[in-house]
Amino acid sequence: MLPTILITTYFFLLGIVIGSFLNVLIFRIPKKENFITTRSHCMSCGYVLKWYDLVPLFSWIALGGKCRKCKARISVQYPLIEGLNGVLYAITFLMKGLTVETLLYCLLFSSLLALSVIDFRTYEIPVGFNYFILALGAVRLLADLSGWRTYLFGSLVVSGFLMILFYATHGRGIGGGDIKLMATCGLLLGWKLIILGFLLGCIIGSVIHLIRMKVSDAGRMLAMGPYLSIGVAISALWGERLIEAYLRFLGL
Ligand SMILES: [Zn+2]
Repeated sequence: MLPTILITTYFFLLGIVIGSFLNVLIFRIPKKENFITTRSHCMSCGYVLKWYDLVPLFSWIALGGKCRKCKARISVQYPLIEGLNGVLYAITFLMKGLTVETLLYCLLFSSLLALSVIDFRTYEIPVGFNYFILALGAVRLLADLSGWRTYLFGSLVVSGFLMILFYATHGRGIGGGDIKLMATCGLLLGWKLIILGFLLGCIIGSVIHLIRMKVSDAGRMLAMGPYLSIGVAISALWGERLIEAYLRFLGL
């Protein structure tokens, strides 16, 4: 019991540290800023953050969400992304244990989190994220070569369907970034889980987008990335159980 609590805490802390790097990516990639060498600074007064201003989650809370120097508000996005990434890492460890799968899924979830926020704001998924997930999928394939059919078919099944949709609607029905995302995530998850993830993403996306169009003036334009990401994450963590329960329900 104690080791589980300690390791879960470790995964959470690792998650918030990587989460703070995700914030840097989210703000700088769309602006084409260098995200490796530029020092972190206040967006209002340019104050260069010291190490004690950069402790994930805790610095934001300690400063009450304000810049140490000019007291300008610091976006709540920082602690939200850090906290969410930490929780995702902890859940992944609890569900999948100390395995290669856990490592790959943690990195996948971080990528999905960052690309979702960027897609939500800019309607574009930076292609670098898809290359990164492709690399994760390649590692999965090499680690489980005997199941290669599952992964290769996974990379084609949803993305192939979306390609047809893309050409049939002359590119209006779906974005190229979403197709690549389904191909790379499919390679990592295998065909059963990517089909489930895609269906979940479509359902969640339709429901949330309809609500957003009703309560706010959110336009008809829909960034699919965040919803597909939520579907993929749920499927990766709980998909096997969901499919099992569904088949039992059908009496199969
Ligand atoms: Zn400032």
